[in-house]
Amino acid sequence: MSDLIQLLPDNIANQIAAGEVIQRPASVVKEIVENAIDAGATSIEVNIKDAGKTLIQIVDNGNGMSPADAELCFERHATSKVRAAADLFSLATKGFRGEALASIAAISHVQLNTREVNNDLGTSITIEGSNIKEKIEAVCAQGTSFEVKNLFYNVPARRNFLKSDKVEFGHISDEFERVALAHPEIHFILQHNENELYNLRSTTLRKRIIDVLGKKTSDRLVPIEESTDIVDLKGFVLKPEFSKKTRGEQFFFVNNRFFKSAYFNHALNKAFEGLLKERTFPSFFLYLSVDPKRIDVNVHPTKTEIKFEEDKFIYSILLSSVRQALGKYNIAPTLDFEREMGFDIPHEMRSQSPIEPTIQVNEGYNPFQTTSRTTSNSTGKKSTNFSKAVVDKGFGSKEAKQEDWDNFYSIDEKNEVSEQTNLVHESDEDKGTQFIVKGNYILSPSKSGLMVIHARRAIEQIVYTDTINSFISSPITSQSLLFPIEKEVSKKECLNWNNNASILKQLGFHGTIENDTLSISAVPGVLEEETLSATLEDILETIGHKDIEKGDLAHNLVAAIARSAGMKQLNLNTDEAVESLVNRLFQCENHMFTPTNKKIIDTISIETIETKFK
Ligand code: ADP
Ligand code: MG
Repeated sequence: MSDLIQLLPDNIANQIAAGEVIQRPASVVKEIVENAIDAGATSIEVNIKDAGKTLIQIVDNGNGMSPADAELCFERHATSKVRAAADLFSLATKGFRGEALASIAAISHVQLNTREVNNDLGTSITIEGSNIKEKIEAVCAQGTSFEVKNLFYNVPARRNFLKSDKVEFGHISDEFERVALAHPEIHFILQHNENELYNLRSTTLRKRIIDVLGKKTSDRLVPIEESTDIVDLKGFVLKPEFSKKTRGEQFFFVNNRFFKSAYFNHALNKAFEGLLKERTFPSFFLYLSVDPKRIDVNVHPTKTEIKFEEDKFIYSILLSSVRQALGKYNIAPTLDFEREMGFDIPHEMRSQSPIEPTIQVNEGYNPFQTTSRTTSNSTGKKSTNFSKAVVDKGFGSKEAKQEDWDNFYSIDEKNEVSEQTNLVHESDEDKGTQFIVKGNYILSPSKSGLMVIHARRAIEQIVYTDTINSFISSPITSQSLLFPIEKEVSKKECLNWNNNASILKQLGFHGTIENDTLSISAVPGVLEEETLSATLEDILETIGHKDIEKGDLAHNLVAAIARSAGMKQLNLNTDEAVESLVNRLFQCENHMFTPTNKKIIDTISIETIETKFK
């Protein structure tokens, strides 16, 4: 028997390690940019082609490498940053594992050009799949330039696993933003397919945040500052009224390194408690300085999770200083709690009633059909007469709508009242016996009890259904604005807008971008002036989601349009208006829930009512 165990050849070991460190083009960007920062660069330029699948080039003006180091840096565990095990516990630089470059070189074609300040000539190295193809003296600028081409060329599984350019570039720009926010003193440039997306000159922290997130951020920032023996804290939170529906703008840094922490997030949520709109998250940019000996960055290969020795203490510092800052800037009283509560009663409050009302509504109920129930079929396509009319006409213009309503009222009259129609309009006497509570809740007696309809949500669902139906058949009619609305947007928002221009246009949004300003000249006809600005915010946020399928995006965008319709002034002043709303709601295939699954109709059962009088 011969010995079976062999040491893995270096290139294979590197390829295996690469799987851990380099998951996608964005990981390459992160590692090489961090190296440039460690090398003392004051200017770093990132050029990307095809979301990094074709080329990732990073040029820095840092210290550069000697000819020997230029070759050595591709060896595994080659690092200038950790000399002894003890160094691991007091890390002030970003790198320490000495495996990033070895990993990258194992799975791509790399061209390195580097020159130290005191040398006239630099070194140029070409390396493919860990094999050095060429090493020559070369004329080059001081600093270091890495070109990484054909990433994962020899790991087809990985390469096939990469997402669309849009998604992969989204990850790159996330990494870029994190590192740019961590180092406002460094000049950063990001180009994609020859378009310059960011050109961030060296500046203050506040200005850097504004440069990255857009000018609109400027008057939304509340400064945070606290100094203790264990931790120094500085940074900003966004005023609560600008909180986001997604967790996009939440940044923690420790010693200028981005990290994620569910535990510290909790502290922030607590600090903002009672100040946030329903289902929104606070935005923050918080920078901790901690003695490097008291943190462990080694817990995660890509280093976004970090262990803190004094995490409980830091939690309480975060909580108290953010609370104090929010109080000091006197933000809390400007929030209009009345409106928020009336608008959308939180779930916790609803469940406080002594006996939970039960839903006793026939979900397939359609007041305009008698015996045969063909409200929906398995394909989800509408098959009611009304919806058919809507789809055929494209349902864009107001006239079309009116005609359709007339149409369906006449159907109503022709139809006999069926067994199923036991909720509203049981007989002529019942018509108009609806009451409006708090300008929003339509109460209507029915055989099984008292039906309650959330009017705003009903409108939301109606607009959603109309818009989707229209969207299926033809572009939505858009309405030109007399004066285009202008909105300052961040680089990322520009990018997202341009990437989704065609779907936005189909939905009726016409906009152009110039100098970080989005100028909107037309919007979907259903939108109202008063809610436009909020809707645009909503739309920008919706298209900012990265990992979203096309169909879901359309759904989310239409849901945002519908939400806006639900926000406008309600008119339930006449019986006709109420009736028309209720009728239109029941025309929707799904009239029980809004596009985001909020309850529209509930019934308080006779039994529930009776128990109250026992
Ligand atoms: P680590 O950053 O963990 O040390 P890397 O594989 O990322 O490991 O880099 C290996 C070494 O190559 C670094 O320790 C550093 O000495 C050198 N190096 C890498 N990039 C640069 C750069 N842009 N400028 C100067 N030296 C660099
Ligand atoms: Mg490194």
